[in-house]
Amino acid sequence: MVVSVVTDNSPARVRFAPSPTGHLHVGGARTALFNYLLARQTGGQFILRIEDTDRQRFVSDAQQDVMESLRWLGLQWDEGPDVSGPAGPYIQSERVHIYRHHAEQLVDQGQAYYCFCSKERLTTLRSGKHGSKGYDGHCRTIPLEQGKLRRQNGEPCVVRFRMPRSSVTSVKDVLRGEIKFDNTQLEDFVLLKTDGIAVYHLAAMVDDHLMHVTHVIRGDEWLSSLPKHALMLRAFGWQEPVWCHISILKKPDGSGKMSKRDESGLNQTASRSIFIRDLQRAGYLPAAMVNWMALMGWSYNDSKDDFTLSELAEVFSLKRLTPSAASVSFERLDHFQGKYMRQLPAVAVAQGIKPVLESHGLHTDKETLLKIVPLIQERILTFGSALQWAGFFFSKEVNPAPEDLVHPETTPQQSRDALKAARGVLAAIPEFDRETTHSALRSLADELQIKPGQLFLSVRVAVSGQRISPPLFEVMEILGRETVLDRIGHGEQLLATR
Ligand code: GLU
Repeated sequence: MVVSVVTDNSPARVRFAPSPTGHLHVGGARTALFNYLLARQTGGQFILRIEDTDRQRFVSDAQQDVMESLRWLGLQWDEGPDVSGPAGPYIQSERVHIYRHHAEQLVDQGQAYYCFCSKERLTTLRSGKHGSKGYDGHCRTIPLEQGKLRRQNGEPCVVRFRMPRSSVTSVKDVLRGEIKFDNTQLEDFVLLKTDGIAVYHLAAMVDDHLMHVTHVIRGDEWLSSLPKHALMLRAFGWQEPVWCHISILKKPDGSGKMSKRDESGLNQTASRSIFIRDLQRAGYLPAAMVNWMALMGWSYNDSKDDFTLSELAEVFSLKRLTPSAASVSFERLDHFQGKYMRQLPAVAVAQGIKPVLESHGLHTDKETLLKIVPLIQERILTFGSALQWAGFFFSKEVNPAPEDLVHPETTPQQSRDALKAARGVLAAIPEFDRETTHSALRSLADELQIKPGQLFLSVRVAVSGQRISPPLFEVMEILGRETVLDRIGHGEQLLATR
């Protein structure tokens, strides 16, 4: 039987249901994003549910990381652990009694049963020595009353779901159409463990029902669990949600599926990490991240690819998702990053680069930062790269390598003389602005019979400490006469012994 699914535009109640077993990565964040977008697009609700039934793989700061990362991306949930709602609590470890009650209900209905098989027996079964590797249904035929009695007498047991033994289970997925599963391949899986704690399958489906979830949008690694989930819902007599299993994301190097438990194995630099918090620290903008992730397996049309979160919330539709696997392309992220970086108001750029500079011991001030921003905004990809472009404005002194002060077509002696002459000229001009300094140094180059480029290079390195900097005369104007003269003087000294 296929239960009809809701696919109209009525308000969707969706959930992002991470297990706190690792930090939020791009794959998980994209799942959250699609759920969020459907909720916003249809005027529904986005629920955050923490699925922490698996205590063995628990990572202590994972929940906090997920929440902080989602908030940073702008994916605020309507109901969740820290936001009360009508269907709470939203942390599964606080709901164990609910799952127990529902497992018992299935036992009473005959759709689940107590299983008393020993660990040793199950291990032998799993080894495949006796044919199939799955559970063989040994306790399936224990009469209900007998099972209850044994359990009351303290015999350890689990609760197993009674799967159909023949025919097929057919489930409809909006992205993939009708999917058929051969029931003879499905085993009677565990609902409640010996300690009375529900496994994920039971907890998730009970919660989806009690939380009135209308659409389950999740990664396609859950497809193999789909028949279990659908059959459980049907056993309870509950309506199935709209199932939507989105495409897998491949690691950037194409080496397979991403995993949040894979942190050490990725061997990536922070700006090439798949973890949201690393990308945040590397200076990526949430707007760029959202735009980038939205286009992994979803598209609007062939011509438009830049979308803000609120634009996405207007145009998002499950119909435009594709089931094929998408690779994570950091070049594409950089493309969006550059775009959004250029669009930022100057004040926001100043705010973004301030902590980067200060974390390197540089003391900044707002007025200077705002003067620098127009010179570097086009040049920096992330706030992190501001150090290279703007650090020298705030350092007490700069210490270039002496050879950098010398143009290839100029001797060290000539360069030193040129710097000395430049200092004289710059000390004497009436206005220390970009136009005046520029024309003064041009005339000086003529006088010295060297190319302006030869002179400008030595001056640039002397005042900025580096060969590549924002435009020289704008830089000098911001630094001010005194600093410029000091730094040029220091440059002369560095060449004094050459
Ligand atoms: N807790 C599961 C996970 O960590 C969620 C699976 C689902 O969305 O049903 O990915």
